[in-house]
Amino acid sequence: MNHDDLRHWSKRAADWAHDYHAGLRDRPVRAALTPGAIAAQLAAAAPEAAEPMDTIFADFERIVPPGMTHWQHPRFFAYFPANAAPASMLAEQLVNAIAAQGMLWQTSPAATEIEQVMVQWLRAALGLPEGFSGTIHDSATTATLSAVLTMREKALGWAGLQQGLSGLPRLRLYASAETHSSVDKAARLSGIGQDNLVKIPTGTDFAMKPGALAGAIQADCDAGFLPVGVVLCAGGTSIGAFDRIADCIAVAHSAGLPLHVDAAWAGSAMICPEFRPLWAGVENADSIVFNPHKWLGAQFDCAVQFLRDPGQQIRTLGLRPTYLETTGHEEITNFNEWTVPLGRRFRALKLWFLMRAYGLNGLRARIRNHVAWARELAQVLATLPGVQITTQPSLSLFSFALGSDAETEALLTRVNDDGRVYLTQTRHQGRLVIRVQVGQFDCTRDDVMMVAQVVKEMT
Ligand SMILES: *Cc1c(COP(=O)(O)O)cnc(C)c1O
Repeated sequence: MNHDDLRHWSKRAADWAHDYHAGLRDRPVRAALTPGAIAAQLAAAAPEAAEPMDTIFADFERIVPPGMTHWQHPRFFAYFPANAAPASMLAEQLVNAIAAQGMLWQTSPAATEIEQVMVQWLRAALGLPEGFSGTIHDSATTATLSAVLTMREKALGWAGLQQGLSGLPRLRLYASAETHSSVDKAARLSGIGQDNLVKIPTGTDFAMKPGALAGAIQADCDAGFLPVGVVLCAGGTSIGAFDRIADCIAVAHSAGLPLHVDAAWAGSAMICPEFRPLWAGVENADSIVFNPHKWLGAQFDCAVQFLRDPGQQIRTLGLRPTYLETTGHEEITNFNEWTVPLGRRFRALKLWFLMRAYGLNGLRARIRNHVAWARELAQVLATLPGVQITTQPSLSLFSFALGSDAETEALLTRVNDDGRVYLTQTRHQGRLVIRVQVGQFDCTRDDVMMVAQVVKEMT
């Protein structure tokens, strides 16, 4: 296959993509397969001789779509969304065509500069003050790890990077149990250790108790431990919990600790001013992550981290060996120094296309609909016999359950085997509950109300 053939097949792929999206409502949302069913259809080894593209494409059409869970299905209500607005898909197509690697300004000046401007567009769109800069990571997990590594090194006076951690004081990191497992992963990978991630108790509102945070930091200091920082939850993955950001930041900062806010999912909603009270005080955070690839519509992957003082993270993550020097351009930004990997994709183009093609107003209208429809759906589900709403909608996420865990699990299995909608579970206050999040880019009110219809039929 050469570039002339690629032109032909790209057009075929574009037509295929259009038909795939147009037919999504007729497919089951979740792949209905037994493990191993796809692998069994593939050849045992790579071919020695080239195969015709017709054969390869036909195999793709036959094997792959039935083997997928369809994340762009308008009735995908599981996990959180991984939206791909058509305009962002087009940008990804162009990025694929250029196929550049943006580790340095010099290796892709447009990628670096569009990334800088898109971070500022998003900062303003979310209502954050000037003074934050930022970068794009692959995932919120990587952004949170970067923030925690920076906290660690700041606490150690940048000694850990050089000497390793042995012989240094025992480090402590603070978060509530509602934060995502990526915070646990960051504690583990940063050498802080799971046992030193202190899970601060939450109140009846599922928010970290600021007084308990202050007490834990003080107790650790008295015990000779070294607190490094606090991670707050702005829209937890399980049931959408929000910490009281302003109060917790005040506690952290009065103890001299930096603070990172994980708004991976809920950050997108902050383009709507009416939701910003949920994270009031966030303007005083040191680091904030949110994933435009979840709710906003930027095709996976795209996680934006805002930083008050990027110099600290660059000092932690940046290295500049001779082969990465860009002589004569010492003042420019080389984004590899802000992130864990060296190589980086051109992720900013899809943000540029996304925000321009829909406008912030178009993106806001979708999010407002999702929140309104989630509330309406929760009210309808609450009227069904045996159904209990276990957590009220936090933005567009709520949970419900039947009388016992066994009944709830059996319902979830029936609903997902049916295939018209896709829901997933979590454990909340010891109880198995079914999560519903509304956020798919193309979903309609009818798609959302289908959840009530299916649950009614299956209970
Ligand atoms: C999804 C999610 C994450 C992890 O996001 P990745 O980008 O997949 O690493 C972290 N925190 C919260 C609150 C999330 O919803």
